[in-house]
Amino acid sequence: MIPTRLVHFRAGQVSFSFESLIVFLEYWFQMGFSKQRASAYRLFAPSFVRTFALALLCFILFVGVRAQNGPPHEEDKREADLVELTKLSKTIKLDIRYARTDNFTGQAVYPEARAFLQRDAAKALLKVHKKLKKEGLGLVIFDGYRPWSITKLFWDVVKLEERKYVADPAKGSKHNRGCAVDLSIYDLKTGRPVPMPSDFDEFTERASPDYTGGTDEERANREKLRSLMEAVGFTVNPNEWWHFDYKDWQSYAIYDIPFDEIGNHKKNPK
Ligand SMILES: [Zn+2]
Repeated sequence: MIPTRLVHFRAGQVSFSFESLIVFLEYWFQMGFSKQRASAYRLFAPSFVRTFALALLCFILFVGVRAQNGPPHEEDKREADLVELTKLSKTIKLDIRYARTDNFTGQAVYPEARAFLQRDAAKALLKVHKKLKKEGLGLVIFDGYRPWSITKLFWDVVKLEERKYVADPAKGSKHNRGCAVDLSIYDLKTGRPVPMPSDFDEFTERASPDYTGGTDEERANREKLRSLMEAVGFTVNPNEWWHFDYKDWQSYAIYDIPFDEIGNHKKNPK
């Protein structure tokens, strides 16, 4: 029967498949050559209308369900206590590409170039920055806390084969918990980033913290960042040398607080 075969749900998408088209044509031709063409039309027309109405209803329901999707809820998590990183030290530099168009989505997804982390993670980060300062270096931040709705946007726009580089919104990201940071090192005098084996958000093998290519200097810089971060409780992501998770990430929820509401977020809302 046409009605149930016309609409296919696959990977959260509504699609009309090639198979449906064939079935539809078969049905159409059968009627065209039928002696009882007139009565078939009478039968077919309501059927087609029903099919169309069903498809429309499914689409509306589908869009509705998606629109209601919010961050996954978890019990017994800590209240967000997000700290703005530039308030910890004037020399922590920002390079927030998600607030510009030069990121993998090609659009500015953050309304403001700001970076936040949960207080304990932020304090740990400051220790790394202070150590680097003694060498004339500093931390440059690409991203910190990321509202859940942005993670969902990344998932929707990235190509299927590149999804391993972005978090599944159904599970949330450690960025959503305010416990992940994307960063590199820069030279305090020149203001320029030190050479690394790949650029930030470069979806290639060079992004791996274990990539053995590149120059000695690039790998040494990557190792310097990694060892300093690991010493204060961060762990590097296996696919991205620039991404680090803080040890307490499990105690925080998946938040969807916009940047301009951070700090105004009510504690213990009733
Ligand atoms: Zn990251």
